[in-house]
Amino acid sequence: MLKDGEKGAVLQRGKKTYAIVPHCSLGLVTPDQLRRMADIADKFNAALKITSAQRIAIVGLQEEQIDQAWAELGMDPGAAVGLCVRSVKACPGITFCRLATRDSLALAKRLDSEFHGRKLPWKFKMAVSGCVNQCAENCIKDFGFFGKRSGWVVTVGGNGGSRPLLAMKLAEKLDDEQAFSLATRVLDYFDAEARKTERMGRMLQRIGFENFKKKVLA
Ligand code: SF4
Repeated sequence: MLKDGEKGAVLQRGKKTYAIVPHCSLGLVTPDQLRRMADIADKFNAALKITSAQRIAIVGLQEEQIDQAWAELGMDPGAAVGLCVRSVKACPGITFCRLATRDSLALAKRLDSEFHGRKLPWKFKMAVSGCVNQCAENCIKDFGFFGKRSGWVVTVGGNGGSRPLLAMKLAEKLDDEQAFSLATRVLDYFDAEARKTERMGRMLQRIGFENFKKKVLA
């Protein structure tokens, strides 16, 4: 039996089959990738499930089918389990949405390229939304940005799950470079200061939000 995450596979209920979750950065997939996922699901009698992290899981594979499925997909595994940066959820932003004020896909792409899969004390989820509507659900993400005409608003410390927390405003009126630079400082700080399996919001409760703000905004 594979360990969770080994070969990019996650054991399913019943402990007989696995799901694999290709990395669809920002929820964007090409028609060719979609066709390959569908072909693999057909070939191995598996299901396709859209996940909350804007990915598509191929569910119901036998252990001996996993290597071949990855080889035929030609995609990297998404960081779906473990202590790391999991996903960067992004709304369509100024590329497609008429309400957007900032380019959420461009900032999210940069964050995803730099940080996806980075090892951290616990899971870490990010969101980037192009306007105050926050369609990427910034309020329940460890770290996020949403756009205003005056610049990016930064939120921190949210999470879903059994002990949910709402994110708090950390900074505002940031341009793209300032936003990316702050993301780097926040992740470095979390990496250094969080306890193992402590979410960002719990760490902020322990060390104090104002104290954290002083450190990362200095
Ligand atoms: S957050 Fe704003 S820009 Fe993004 S999809 Fe929603 S309404 Fe559009």
